[in-house]
Amino acid sequence: MNNLLNTELNYQDLVSKYGSPLLVLDKATVRHQYRALKSALPGVTLHYALKPLPHDTLIDVLEEEGACFDLASNGEVDIMIRHGIDPDKCIHTHPIKKMNDIAYALNYGCRIFVADNVCELEKLAAFKDQVKVMIRVSFPNPETKVDLSKKFGALPEEVLPLLQTAVSLGIEVYGLSFHVGSQVKTSKRHVEAVNACSEIISEARRNNININVLDIGGGFPVDYENAGETDIREFCKPIVEALSNIPDNIRVIAEPGRFIAAPSMVGICSVTGKSMRFGKPWYYLDDGVYCSYSGQIFDHVVYPKFTQKIGAINFSVLAGPTCDSIDIIAEDIPLPELDVGDLIIGKMMGAYTIATATDFNFIPRAKIVEVDLEREPLSINIEMVA
Ligand SMILES: *Cc1c(COP(=O)(O)O)cnc(C)c1O
Repeated sequence: MNNLLNTELNYQDLVSKYGSPLLVLDKATVRHQYRALKSALPGVTLHYALKPLPHDTLIDVLEEEGACFDLASNGEVDIMIRHGIDPDKCIHTHPIKKMNDIAYALNYGCRIFVADNVCELEKLAAFKDQVKVMIRVSFPNPETKVDLSKKFGALPEEVLPLLQTAVSLGIEVYGLSFHVGSQVKTSKRHVEAVNACSEIISEARRNNININVLDIGGGFPVDYENAGETDIREFCKPIVEALSNIPDNIRVIAEPGRFIAAPSMVGICSVTGKSMRFGKPWYYLDDGVYCSYSGQIFDHVVYPKFTQKIGAINFSVLAGPTCDSIDIIAEDIPLPELDVGDLIIGKMMGAYTIATATDFNFIPRAKIVEVDLEREPLSINIEMVA
């Protein structure tokens, strides 16, 4: 089956038709990634976390696949409403909310919320007849550059007291959740977290608090180095094994973001100018760290970059279009000599890329072009991302 992990597009043709810079979103890759993770985690309900790429087409494709969703803001609630997504398929996982945010999500119909502290439980108590709570547990992970337990999550020993507080406030306890960090190298931390949650669940049951759901979060990695397929089945095997040992009658859910979104977009940008500076070729591009390559700053990812040109190689610099000198996407990249109009292709550019773009210098963002490599290779809708 064709998808962006195994197919080269006619990049030049796309730029001739739609201009530059572009991000090409492939629906077939979205389906491929969703199905791969689904089959690697049998019986686990997948809630796509909207944050890495809250794009309408991706949401439509996932909805067709039967996915559920994970949202964290009123804007993300609006997206769900616009798509007519059943609120029962949604969880709201922001651990810190305004009263208004809780009311807004409830008004849509989403009833499952996350808390990791007493202040938040007290807010939820105002809606106690409607809400169900998951307590987020923290498992700090110094191995990942995006350690999502640094900012949120209660320590394992704090969880039982929080569950007891929830019960005494009259809030229905739904489950436990964690996020071991994004783009983790191995599933070791997931396994440790599942095992630790398993103990907390048993301890809670001994204290007459029933827990129904374990949410194992996101973090599932993609292969940025080779722009290739991750062996997700191998990655998930130890998690599946750990899940087979949790207490009975626990429904397991997960919140993948990056794994589904990242491989689904390819970036295409063009050389707009060139220079020799301090003996090194510099190529200036029409996309950079303030737009599609923003993940190189915020998400600490370096996207694999290619040219289809051939020639003698020089270590070169690729710089973005703004007037800021931080706007450099590669300092020492081996490239043949490029000319104005030549293309630079960035792979695995779906997650945390355009989602964190800015309008700095009033430089227009990359256009998103849709393809479906499985169906009609170049059936296309263009859209400017506002
Ligand atoms: C960002 C986020 C996710 C998605 O994480 P990935 O590492 O991209 O899979 C899931 N859940 C929560 C609560 C998040 O903040």
